[in-house]
Amino acid sequence: MTGQLRKTYATTLHDLATLMRRVHLVAYKIVKRGRGGAGHVRPAFAPALVDLQAMDVESMAEATVSEVAAGIGLWGDWQTLLPRMTARLTDLCARRTAADDLARLQAETQVLRAWLGDTMDSQQLAGICPECHAPIYQPPASHSVTCRCGWTSVDPQPARLELQRQWARLHITVTPAGLSEWISDNLGVHVNRKTCTTWLLRGKLQATRAGDGCWTIPLAAIARQVQRHASE
Ligand SMILES: [Zn+2]
Repeated sequence: MTGQLRKTYATTLHDLATLMRRVHLVAYKIVKRGRGGAGHVRPAFAPALVDLQAMDVESMAEATVSEVAAGIGLWGDWQTLLPRMTARLTDLCARRTAADDLARLQAETQVLRAWLGDTMDSQQLAGICPECHAPIYQPPASHSVTCRCGWTSVDPQPARLELQRQWARLHITVTPAGLSEWISDNLGVHVNRKTCTTWLLRGKLQATRAGDGCWTIPLAAIARQVQRHASE
């Protein structure tokens, strides 16, 4: 009985990690969902290439992972939590709520699987609605944009500007080594730790110091600097 719970729990955490990685790649438009395999990594530079719907899906699953992990005293993002939870399976299974926790995590894997399996490839993100802030998807060829809230425009520019504003608000907090890793994971470009440190110290990333050797950096500034670096 407990052996079975432990086995299912381990499988669920493993599946969840795989699915979350894929959603994360979709969020930054590094891979498209509805396609097999995440092996092909392409640079994703332009601000318009971020998929806010995927970010939503990712953060909802992360909230469930965080709640379960908090039950055994673990904190952090899903990338940190899932491997640590796997290492602490005995504690997770010993919890009074173990079966419920597991069911919630399994439900997340189902949501992620269903979402990733959907084929919305023919739609692209046109921008963010300036009225209700929902992402607007449309077929690539059409120019006028219409949001579900009723906002409509013959010119997609206001929706694109809103997307750029949202993108500008996204930040990561990392060490220079973490930044180098983030760039290679998310933009598919190798920039070594030393170069990252130089960029940070020379103010090329509009970063602010966050203590413990970490910096808080706008994603847009990273994308711009990497693009500049690649075309040098
Ligand atoms: Zn709207």
